[in-house]
Amino acid sequence: MHLRPALLTCAAALAALCLAAPAAADSGGGAVAAPTAPAGTPTADGGARAGGAVPASTRRHRRRRARRRRVVPRAPVVPAGDHVFPVAGAYSLGGEDARFGAPRTGHTHQGHDISAASGIPVLAPFAGTIDWVRFQRAGAGHYVVLDADDERDYVFMHLRRGSIPVVAGQRVAAGEQIGEVGSSGESSGPHLHFEVWVGGWYEKGGAPVDPLPLLQAWATR
Ligand SMILES: [Zn+2]
Repeated sequence: MHLRPALLTCAAALAALCLAAPAAADSGGGAVAAPTAPAGTPTADGGARAGGAVPASTRRHRRRRARRRRVVPRAPVVPAGDHVFPVAGAYSLGGEDARFGAPRTGHTHQGHDISAASGIPVLAPFAGTIDWVRFQRAGAGHYVVLDADDERDYVFMHLRRGSIPVVAGQRVAAGEQIGEVGSSGESSGPHLHFEVWVGGWYEKGGAPVDPLPLLQAWATR
């Protein structure tokens, strides 16, 4: 006789619990969500807005981190024999005018001009990370900057429009194609304007060096 009321009491208690639980969860969730949502929204927006302006500096931070990491003692730099000539096809290293330091209007030539037919593949001389893929109409045209693992930055200019298969931040292997020879930007004919920088491309302390000895060394392999 006492069982039934006892069961009913239990059932009532369970029902009360069941009703109470979701209600508590809802109110709890709502209570948590309410303050975070308004507070979180502007934060997220601010972050997004800041993020829009940040990529370059983020990249610089990443570069700095990468460079710092590379400065840490580790295995010796991979021998020069592992480099790949940056043009995969018939080419000419040209004459004096093609050389690093040759006079140009208002400046001196900061790279070496490798003459080659339009469409010939341009290759990464060494493994590294693509730092920049940009277009400069009144100059470099379509160009790529490779932050290589050998401590150098390699710059490839006047690439053929639409030929660049890589994006900034991408890792590439030595010999991987990063574009095609072209004549984009301020260029009088198909050639690869090739620059080699030590200390970072246009970074503080960075400077271009003559690519010719390197090109000649890589060409014999
Ligand atoms: Zn040039």
